[in-house]
Amino acid sequence: MRTKLIAGNWKMNLNFIEAKELFRDVQAIENNDKAIALCVPACYLSAFSNAVDPFIFAQDVSAHVKGAYTGEVSASMLASLHIMGSLVGHSERRQYHAESASVLKEKVDRLLENNLIALYCIGETIEERNEQKHEAVIQKQIIEVLGHLTSEQMKNVIIAYEPVWAIGTGVTATTSQAQEMHAFIRNEIERSFGQTCASQIKILYGGSMNASNAKELLACPDVDGGLIGGASLKVDDFKFIYES
Ligand code: PEP
Repeated sequence: MRTKLIAGNWKMNLNFIEAKELFRDVQAIENNDKAIALCVPACYLSAFSNAVDPFIFAQDVSAHVKGAYTGEVSASMLASLHIMGSLVGHSERRQYHAESASVLKEKVDRLLENNLIALYCIGETIEERNEQKHEAVIQKQIIEVLGHLTSEQMKNVIIAYEPVWAIGTGVTATTSQAQEMHAFIRNEIERSFGQTCASQIKILYGGSMNASNAKELLACPDVDGGLIGGASLKVDDFKFIYES
């Protein structure tokens, strides 16, 4: 039985006063059977460190262990703040920071070496979908970045399927598109890491999830929660999704 996870990705939004207020509002959401996580800007991590309700994640982590990498935040720094883990490979990082599969693989490794969770984002562009390449793209993104891991290491990996065409666009995958891709991903995980791993791994959906579509998406059997950008910035919307 997989517990559902509702994760908010604040991206580069909110000043510190707004962030503290929203954090408090999210903390006040009455718990149900789902867990909550927030992926907060790096400069706010220490203010929310040690939190378990909601769990706190970074939005990015360095591929390097330590040293002369100005501006970077290492996985061991996150661990020393008792942060749960970090997003890896969000499409905005792939697109605007040209993050390659080999860099993402290093980031996942740094997180796992520090017993942190890698919340690994994958997804195809609209061109790739229109050309019927979406499954091949997803398969490649899984193999290139996670393929070297053991099934034991995979226990610290969460996958977020986020079709690039749905992120921040207001366009959401239909429930059948989401379920089809999540089942495909779970099948790929089974092929590489075995049935137990496939049945345990969480696969979140991300891409314009909001109060009006969350219930349907979260009801899909292979959708284990959501990664929510825009709608995580308003507590009422986020709460509605959580309660869906
Ligand atoms: C995201 O940033 O991961 C995301 C899914 O954003 P949005 O919900 O705004 O599409």
